[in-house]
Order: sequence, then C-alpha cells, then structure tokens
Amino acid sequence: MAHPIIELKGIHYSYHSMHGETKALKDVSFGVKEGEFVAIVGPSGCGKSTLLSIIAGLLRPEEGTIVVNNPDGSLRYPRVGYMLQRDHLFEWRTVYQNVTLGLEINHMMTKERLSYVDQLLHDYGLEQFRDKRPSELSGGMKQRAALIRTLALGPQLLLLDEPFSALDYQTRLLVSADICRLIRQTKKTMIIITHDLSEAISLADRVIILSARPATVKKELPIRLTLPDDSLLAARHAPEFQDYFSQLWEVLTDEADQI
Ligand code: ADP
Repeated sequence: MAHPIIELKGIHYSYHSMHGETKALKDVSFGVKEGEFVAIVGPSGCGKSTLLSIIAGLLRPEEGTIVVNNPDGSLRYPRVGYMLQRDHLFEWRTVYQNVTLGLEINHMMTKERLSYVDQLLHDYGLEQFRDKRPSELSGGMKQRAALIRTLALGPQLLLLDEPFSALDYQTRLLVSADICRLIRQTKKTMIIITHDLSEAISLADRVIILSARPATVKKELPIRLTLPDDSLLAARHAPEFQDYFSQLWEVLTDEADQI
C-alpha cells in the first residue's frame, strides 16, 4: 500500500462572517496512501471537521490543492463516504430502508447494489433485523447499519468524523474495534477524526496531529503495534502503545501550553 491516492498541498481555509474572519486551516499538507487508515487528532475547535469537509469536497480550499493519484492513472476524485458523529438512522424507516437510503436518493437502486447490501446485511449479522426500526437495535448494530448505508454507495475513501463519540465508553471500545475491523476487510482507505488518543493509536496506521487553530500539521506518527492477533482491543496492551501515547501527549500538551 505505497500509493498516495490523495495529497493535500498547502491547504488554507478561513470562515468569513459579519464578525470577521476565523482562520481554520493554515498550510496543511499530507498524503494518504491507498488502503491506509489515518487518524487526525488535535485540540477542540482547531479545524479537524473543516479539513474533512475539504477532503470530502464540501468546502473549497482558499489556497492549496488536493492532488489525486489513482492507481490506474486517472484523475477522477475518489468516491467519498462520510460517517458522522451520530448514526443518523431514521426511525420512521426500517433498517433495510435506512441502509438503502443513499442508493434511493442517488437513483442507484440497481440489482448489483441491492445484492451487495443484502450481502453486507448477512455478513454484519443484521439480516434478521432488516424489517426492524433503528430503536430496536443495539448501539453497535446501529453503527453497523450506518456503515452498510455508507458502503452501499461504493466509496473508495471513508471519512469518519468522531463516529463513536455518542456511545458510552465500553460500547465505544467494542464498536470502534468492530467497525474498523469491518472496514479493514473492505480494504478501503479511511481518515478518522477522534479526540481520543488511545483510539487513534489502536485503529490507525498513522496519526496526524494538528496544532491549535488555525490548524497546521504538527507531527505525523506512523503506528506499528506488535499484536498477538488481529484484535484491535489487544492494541491497547501492545508493548509500543504507551510510548506512542506519550509522544502524542507531549505534542498535544505543548500545543495546549500555547493557547
Ligand atoms: P474541530 O472539528 O477541530 O472541532 P472545526 O473545523 O469544526 O473544528 O472548526 C474550526 C474553527 O472554525 C472553530 O473555531 C469554529 O468555531 C469555526 N467554524 C466552524 N464552522 C464555522 C462556520 N460555519 N462559520 C464560522 N466559523 C466556523
């Protein structure tokens, strides 16, 4: 997985309002390789969601470029799937109607796509729940349903904006490990925003630390954990874990001193 599918080069972004300008991003540059899991951490309000919105194409950078390097040489921007802080499942729709919502809106209810959804419902243990309402599912099942809804559209790049923050601590540990294991199986590229350093180290191949606002890249830390199995829960007990945590903590507290 040596191929950077997207490279951000010198990205700047500011919000403008009646009360003036809020500089959110300043000269942000980094690349993301195909199949890589990148976690972005940084102080609250530094510009993480803004950065994700730029990568998703929802906001245009004021300065800088995003270079696309597809393995096939094409210049097409990778299809992006977004998972947000809440699962955003609609209670008035069944699980099946929720997971096919994106397909419905995008007029993509083809036989192939629907059979892919059926496959995912089966693989993720939700087949018997397809006619239930979201409130009848556990927190973990809801996140699985939200993931199926995202995967149904065939994204190449998954953007996750604190997707587990609405869950209690214990559920969060289990669900984040579960969802990331499922995403790894799809071999997709993922960028996740989290304020939880342990989560970042457990889930990602590389952690990018942003400075306080306006955000710029303070440090990039590749993560290599020695694990007895592929269980992400074991990651927190890996011998390297504490050292990575200390390195990230040092950069973040150094940032906090400057606020
Ligand atoms: P983070 O995700 O790191 O918490 P955000 O990217 O949401 O940070 O926001 C970065 C900064 O930009 C914050 O100071 C926030 O208040 C400001 N901001 C975000 N959205 C808007 C907006 N639509 N208009 C004005 N300022 C905004």
